[in-house]
Amino acid sequence: MVTEADMRHLRRCVELAHEAFDKGEEPFGSVLATADGTKLAEDHNRTSGGDQTLHPEFELARWAANNMTPQDRAGATVYTSGEHCPMCSAAHAWVGLGRIVYVVSAAQLTGWRDGWGAPSAPVRPYPIQEVAPGVIVGGPVPQFEDEMKALHRRTFERG
Ligand SMILES: [Zn+2]
Repeated sequence: MVTEADMRHLRRCVELAHEAFDKGEEPFGSVLATADGTKLAEDHNRTSGGDQTLHPEFELARWAANNMTPQDRAGATVYTSGEHCPMCSAAHAWVGLGRIVYVVSAAQLTGWRDGWGAPSAPVRPYPIQEVAPGVIVGGPVPQFEDEMKALHRRTFERG
């Protein structure tokens, strides 16, 4: 279930995706929040420098491992504009983080990109639970779908 508090964090993820786009990055943004909904950290994609592993979900998993107790990590939620890729799903599970809520699923994004004739990603778009079966997952969230689709379209057209 996606709550009103979840929607606030998801809105921030979409804003971070716009910020990333404006900086020439791919439009993905993520927020890490405690069990009571307090935001601890946020990030967006930083892959334009050539390191394709600099996804926000991966950075937040690292941040959580370095700054949170295992108990707090288990109760935390990671919000994200696009479903975790397998690398980030694995990192999330390895550091023992809790729930994930995403706006757009990997299947949706892959379907859009295929429709636009974009090259396919080098990693299969497995759903989070294929990689990390113990993680509770919410999404997609249709309220932000059109906005994210338009942003990804602009990113594709920018090349
Ligand atoms: Zn990723």
